[in-house]
Amino acid sequence: MSPDSSVDFLIVGAGFSGLVAAERLSNAGFRCVVVDQREHLGGNAHDRIDAAGVRVHDYGPHYFRTNSPRIVEYLSKFTGWLDADYKIKSFTDDRYWSFPVNLNTFEELVGHPATTADFETWLSAHRIPAEHPRNSEELMLSIVGPELYRKFYEGYTLKQWRRHPRELDPSVCGRVPVRTNRDDRYLAEEFQALPKEGFTAMFQRMLDASPGVELHLGVDFEEARRRWHHRHLIFTGPVDQYFGRRFGALPYRSLRFEHESFTREQLAARAAVSGKPGFWQPAVQVNYPAADVPHTRILEFKHITGPLPEGSTIIREFPKDWTPDDEPFYPVPAADAKAAYRRYAELAAAEENTSFIGRLATYRYYNMDQVTGMALAEAERLISRYSTHA
Ligand SMILES: Cc1cc2nc3c(=O)[nH]c(=O)nc-3n(C[C@H](O)[C@H](O)[C@H](O)COP(=O)(O)OP(=O)(O)OC[C@H]3O[C@@H](n4cnc5c(N)ncnc54)[C@H](O)[C@@H]3O)c2cc1C
Repeated sequence: MSPDSSVDFLIVGAGFSGLVAAERLSNAGFRCVVVDQREHLGGNAHDRIDAAGVRVHDYGPHYFRTNSPRIVEYLSKFTGWLDADYKIKSFTDDRYWSFPVNLNTFEELVGHPATTADFETWLSAHRIPAEHPRNSEELMLSIVGPELYRKFYEGYTLKQWRRHPRELDPSVCGRVPVRTNRDDRYLAEEFQALPKEGFTAMFQRMLDASPGVELHLGVDFEEARRRWHHRHLIFTGPVDQYFGRRFGALPYRSLRFEHESFTREQLAARAAVSGKPGFWQPAVQVNYPAADVPHTRILEFKHITGPLPEGSTIIREFPKDWTPDDEPFYPVPAADAKAAYRRYAELAAAEENTSFIGRLATYRYYNMDQVTGMALAEAERLISRYSTHA
């Protein structure tokens, strides 16, 4: 096949990394082609309004949050924001618990009112100190002690990763805050909000503001590299796939989602359970740590995404072993997986005129604000490189 045309940048992946890089580069005067093998924009952050009128995230809940005013300022060029109150619960021992662990959780545990001082005294008596926790189990035992660790973390983590917390980085369980006051927000970052009309609309505006960008959906990398000659490639797909898995596939975890929608009448019958008329469950996310429940969490996006239709949709999320036919949702945060990645990272560093950015290409659990920052930095570097070598 002869190439369709010649461009400055071929960008593989229309998620945060690829689209932010494309926007910056095109506004610096470069011609970019962005391709994605999926039929939609936004990568894993893609969202849409479903038949019940609920804005749902198709690839798991995406809670935007950041401590970086620079990232908020950049994305605000393409979206307004909806204040998001990310409150979640854990369904454990047949009841809903306040989660992440906070003073309310402690009161639920002891069954009477308590103070921060009471909770701190209890924690001091139960913690198993570890000066340098080597894994998620040591970390959580050193923060909350065995009882809360077993109730909320051990089973959930084992189910999610099919690896015991003692085989996983401290960062896996350490991502979730533990507080001794009544702050029960799921996340700790200062800015917590969602794009007002959703992520997909934000990405569409980003493209509308990028005059030199051509988007081709439903096109994979192999086809794209034949169709477009390019001076530089930006690859945001899985790094092992790029190199033909020559050292074997890197380990990933995958997920399966089941959607179920409810009418207003069905929700009315659940009001006693959800505690909130018009909703199926009490919070946007309920965790299910028990081993005999196959899903890890149930999401009800109506709590946070707006609009507020009469019905609602829930999505059950099931962890899944990854095979090459599945979406590689999570790089595995464990020592053996990192060692396997290092061999690909060496190949990537030696690849000429090619940038590997984003979560899959760098095999690291980055949040959306972090990959935005990475794409901005890489675009700046490339603008300066190719502007001086025109
Ligand atoms: C279940 C889940 C929940 C998450 N929750 C949060 C959250 O709450 N908050 C947060 O900040 N972050 C969250 N994240 C992380 C967030 O999804 C990422 O930070 C972000 O989407 C990474 O963007 P990206 O562009 O690097 O990758 P992606 O969004 O994965 O985009 C890569 C794109 O490349 C395409 N692609 C790959 N290979 C090829 C190929 N060979 N040819 C063509 N196209 C290809 C893919 O189809 C995909 O669209 C979550 C991730 C998951 C999986």
